[in-house]
Amino acid sequence: MPSKRSLILGTLLITAATGALWLYERQKPMPPSASEYESLAETVEIDESSLHPRLRGLNDWKRPDGPWHVAIQVGHLQASDAPDELEKLRINTGTSYGKVTEWETSLAIAEKTKTILEASGIAVEILPTTIPPNHWSDIFISIHTDGNENASVSGYKVASPRRDYTGKSEEFAATLGMEYQDATSLPFDDNITKAMRGYYAFNWRRYDHSIHPETVAAIIETGFLTNARARSVIVKTPEIPAQGIASGILSFLASQKK
Ligand SMILES: [Zn+2]
Repeated sequence: MPSKRSLILGTLLITAATGALWLYERQKPMPPSASEYESLAETVEIDESSLHPRLRGLNDWKRPDGPWHVAIQVGHLQASDAPDELEKLRINTGTSYGKVTEWETSLAIAEKTKTILEASGIAVEILPTTIPPNHWSDIFISIHTDGNENASVSGYKVASPRRDYTGKSEEFAATLGMEYQDATSLPFDDNITKAMRGYYAFNWRRYDHSIHPETVAAIIETGFLTNARARSVIVKTPEIPAQGIASGILSFLASQKK
């Protein structure tokens, strides 16, 4: 029989733990809203005469006819094939945990996402590290995974390009973040890096092998390979993060006109 004193102590401990959990839930960072993303973005003004010849005619550009087109890039896939202008990427093979690699994890998620989107009549292509020059799609999403020396670090990150010509990428990133959180229940990690917002594939001014300026884009770090809970979601059940990503894309496209 527990003594009366230990019962009281136990009750107090449970109350304290519930309170701490409630506080944690209250303080858990939420993904940014579209307006918060917008405040981060720089306005891009285009002076055509200053553009590389591959981008001339941008002001008269029209979307090609046809179904919605989505490009899913698998981070670090075939990194050794990177073109000369992005030579430094050849040795950037991404993070890993034991035998689990970033590119394999991201590829599994990308393939499941492709299947879901194709079932909705969307044209989907999977891209490796090398983006075909001036590559246009309605949506471009780059899929990555994180790593950290501290196994308790967890969460996913979503970012849109620092310079966005479409003016819609922030909204897409916000929608994607919400749907991803709904699907995976992973916490949002607000530690968005410069490397994410300035991702090479977004940088069409500097690199030939990058997206066309009229492409709505985002990059997602789907979770930490070094965290057990994240692995149980992104490695063991890639269909769950894929559902989150696909829902984010479908939900955003439903609000758009071709
Ligand atoms: Zn990566």
